[in-house]
Amino acid sequence: MIPRKDLPADARPDTLAVREGLPASPWGENSEALFLTSCFVHPDAATAARRFANEEDAFVYSRFSNPNVTIMERRLAALEGTTGCIGTASGMGAILLLVMGLLRAGDHVICSQSVFGATIRLLQSEFGKFGVETSFVSQTDVDAWRAAVRPSTRLLLAETPTNPMTEVCDIAALADVAHAAGALLAVDNCMCSPALQQPARFGADVIIHSGTKFLDGQGRVNAGALCASEELVEERFAPVLRCAGMTLSPFNAWIVAKGLETLAVRVHAQSDRALQVAHWLEQHPAVERVFHPGLPSHPQHALAMRQQGGRGGAVLAFNVRGGREQAFGVVDATRVCSIAANFGDVRSIITHPASTTHGRLTEAQRQAAGIGQSMIRLGVGLEDAEDLKADLARGLDRIGT
Ligand SMILES: *Cc1c(COP(=O)(O)O)cnc(C)c1O
Repeated sequence: MIPRKDLPADARPDTLAVREGLPASPWGENSEALFLTSCFVHPDAATAARRFANEEDAFVYSRFSNPNVTIMERRLAALEGTTGCIGTASGMGAILLLVMGLLRAGDHVICSQSVFGATIRLLQSEFGKFGVETSFVSQTDVDAWRAAVRPSTRLLLAETPTNPMTEVCDIAALADVAHAAGALLAVDNCMCSPALQQPARFGADVIIHSGTKFLDGQGRVNAGALCASEELVEERFAPVLRCAGMTLSPFNAWIVAKGLETLAVRVHAQSDRALQVAHWLEQHPAVERVFHPGLPSHPQHALAMRQQGGRGGAVLAFNVRGGREQAFGVVDATRVCSIAANFGDVRSIITHPASTTHGRLTEAQRQAAGIGQSMIRLGVGLEDAEDLKADLARGLDRIGT
């Protein structure tokens, strides 16, 4: 076993976020060094043989693992409250690893119809080709999940809150449905991060991350991870990653590990700003509806507060009065927000989902998902909330009501 940092066993999450990892190198650096090396040297041939046979734990080759990746994995597992974690090249790489590690042809998946678009395409189009069938069900209707169970169901996949509608599903209820069916529950925790929500506490078996979002938090790299029991990681995921190669790069792992150190302070501050902006938007005459789990008007507000540590998260959406023209007007009038398609960054990002992130859906699919032409998504960053309100007011105040 590669030694950990020798921390007290009862260290709390804020401590683990900045301290969990590997011991320092012989040079005694305080901040983690970068290990940009593709392979590792062994003292002799016999040791190399043992290490290649997995009889002795050591770093061998960076497609398998690397100190920077291990540091990131241990830190993220500590925050999610799981015994294992495996880094991947991106969030989609993590979902690819999830499906390759757990499923075979003939297996059945139940997935929320409101998950990230690329997740739907990966399951439906790509894994459909290999004989894995997926049923898509309502995000919030537990009975629909239960009714979709078949003898071949192996995996339930949920994402909460969803993007951009911020619909919240009951993780504990879905874990019960999965376990009664002999299946596993995987939860995509991108929108909250472990700073707000730890799905394992509610019974989720696998937690999916895009490190690209809040974990990096400063919009620099693509990264991903699966958190689960050490057994699942070692037996189901690591063997696939070693031969399939959706490996997290050491540099990107280093960025994410450093990002995890400030995750809680960032996400709490961004979430609080998002709630302030959401309340302000709700009373603006040019705004028809605001979607944020922290608002009492949100349909799953009480559940979200229980599940997300009393915070709604840093992503909100709203419908302006009018259509695409009015929404574009609000986006184009901003001088602080970035017009882009991401969230989780310390810089606020404004997006028109219907023409970008959800632009490939048909109008009927978008209608079903509730994503109209008048909708705007805001990934709230660390700017002053008053400046963000003024930035949105520039366009909103011009909409005739
Ligand atoms: C961004 C995102 C992903 C994909 O992550 P990448 O790092 O872009 O591959 C998956 N799920 C959710 C909820 C996301 O927001």
